[in-house]
Amino acid sequence: MNSTAPSTQPVTPPPPPEQDSLYAVRQKVYVRAVTGLFANWRWALVWITQILFYGLPWLSWNGRQAVLLHLVERKFYIFGWVFWPQDVFFLAILLIISAYSLFFFTAIAGRLWCGYACPQTVYTEIFMWVEQKIEGDRNKRMKLDKSPMSPRKFAIKAAKYGSWAAISIWTGFTFVSYFSPLSDLLRSVQTLSFGPWELFWILFYGGFTYLFAGVMREQVCKYMCPYARFQSVMFDPDTLVITYDEARGEPRGARKKGVEPKSVSKGDCVDCGICVQVCPTGIDIRDGLQYECIGCAACIDACDQVMDKMEYPRGLIRYSTENAIKKGWGTKEVVAHVFRPRTLIYGFVLVVLSLAFVWGLASREPLRVDVMRDRSSLAREVEGGMIENVYELQIMNMTEQPRTFVFGARGIDGIAIEGDKRLQVDAAGMRSVTLKVRAPYDPDKVGATEVFFEVYPEDKPSLKLSEKTTFLFPR
Ligand code: SF4
Ligand code: SF4
Repeated sequence: MNSTAPSTQPVTPPPPPEQDSLYAVRQKVYVRAVTGLFANWRWALVWITQILFYGLPWLSWNGRQAVLLHLVERKFYIFGWVFWPQDVFFLAILLIISAYSLFFFTAIAGRLWCGYACPQTVYTEIFMWVEQKIEGDRNKRMKLDKSPMSPRKFAIKAAKYGSWAAISIWTGFTFVSYFSPLSDLLRSVQTLSFGPWELFWILFYGGFTYLFAGVMREQVCKYMCPYARFQSVMFDPDTLVITYDEARGEPRGARKKGVEPKSVSKGDCVDCGICVQVCPTGIDIRDGLQYECIGCAACIDACDQVMDKMEYPRGLIRYSTENAIKKGWGTKEVVAHVFRPRTLIYGFVLVVLSLAFVWGLASREPLRVDVMRDRSSLAREVEGGMIENVYELQIMNMTEQPRTFVFGARGIDGIAIEGDKRLQVDAAGMRSVTLKVRAPYDPDKVGATEVFFEVYPEDKPSLKLSEKTTFLFPR
């Protein structure tokens, strides 16, 4: 028998394999300021969205705040409209329209929303502008951060953080004024007496504005935003994306101004790195389309300026499509491929939903009626051989004028409502009234019989609404 004695030597465990850290240390991105056509578009969007956001709560309509999503009253005031919880249908359609708009515009031109209108982009742009005004452009900021703390550095940093905090608090205050009347909030400012929830939401929204736009910036887009992850399913080879024209740009390399690239066996890219320096997410678009690219087009503006200086044609980095780059298409072919089955279907659904929304708003009834039979009081026989049922009638006046409503009942011969048949309802108000309704006893109708309550505004009988319910005849 062949036996092997076990080794008595101690076994040295192999060294653990080298592992990559799961968390990369963030390299701070020092974004270089850029000007140009797309920067102008971004700033136009900043102005439009912020004038609307900060300005709307200050507008008045019919003596009240024009846009107010009044959570306490559970009513949404939007200019001439007053929406009730029962109007959730409009909110649902609006959300579906927003989703389809996102699909539609993303299929056509990629991350337009991210690059130009997303609050994260807009506030980061504002915060970066403040930073540049106070600390200077990229090189000055890098130098300042490397320098030791001094009274000057402290003052500059305090001015920057203080300005960011002021913008954030104002943003939080404005946000809350969409849900709680601005006039009440302004009174609270004067008396320093905010309600706990108002204060919480001002600090919460303001705090996150500061954190996302001032501190986290590109990390929100890279690691937190789900849209960046699923947008690729909305892209196809004909979607416009920001692209580096590799065939034209490579091989890259430095050369003197005005030198013909072919004469130095190079492409048009002079490898200046400015497209990377202006990128708010710190990526190099020359490495191809990356999910970190938010489509802000800052690299297009930067590279166009370099091309101008080198006296080369613009568009080394440009909006193009995968197909256009591969097949060498010009603008005409790219535009022709905007209309393809996917975009036509999204566009068609979008038009239909938008029309349904507008039609729904235009044909919205200015009153709502609910009728409930009072189940606690049984149908009973009263004088004159009549049967009496009791109902709760609820009338909602959706207009902004107080109105008197007239009501009646039909469905059984001789049915009548006892007492006053008129009800005054406040502007955008709701009132309920208990009604005794009587009908002559009919042995053929024992059990439940269908009846209708009819309600109309006294000043406009044509707006009559009928609400169905049942009338009980006892055995
Ligand atoms: S800005 Fe243009 S030329 Fe400069 S590195 Fe980027 S792609 Fe090349
Ligand atoms: S790669 Fe260009 S478009 Fe994309 S985020 Fe950077 S600068 Fe903006």
